[in-house]
Amino acid sequence: MTKASRPRRPKRQPLRTCLGCGAKRPKKELIRVVRVPSGTVRVDASGRLAGRGAYVCPSEECLRGAAKGRKLERALEVPVPDDVLDELSRAVAAAGGAGGDGSTR
Ligand SMILES: [Zn+2]
Repeated sequence: MTKASRPRRPKRQPLRTCLGCGAKRPKKELIRVVRVPSGTVRVDASGRLAGRGAYVCPSEECLRGAAKGRKLERALEVPVPDDVLDELSRAVAAAGGAGGDGSTR
């Protein structure tokens, strides 16, 4: 449009790309997987672990898409162990699988 200088948005949502479907979504809507500095891959429920992160939607399809084709491994630059994938699928189930839309607000 014509407004040349509009003020910065006060709250900018950090957007991250889902490895499964490629959608950009606010960070807090995605599940974060982190390679921590020791080299271990962890599911980051708190969103606060330091390290190299990758993101997937809380959806089994996206998780499968990210695990398949080794997108997750490439993003993290290390192999992702099965137990991490298990933990991820549990996180997916907890976040989105059961209740549809967030009911607690
Ligand atoms: Zn996705």
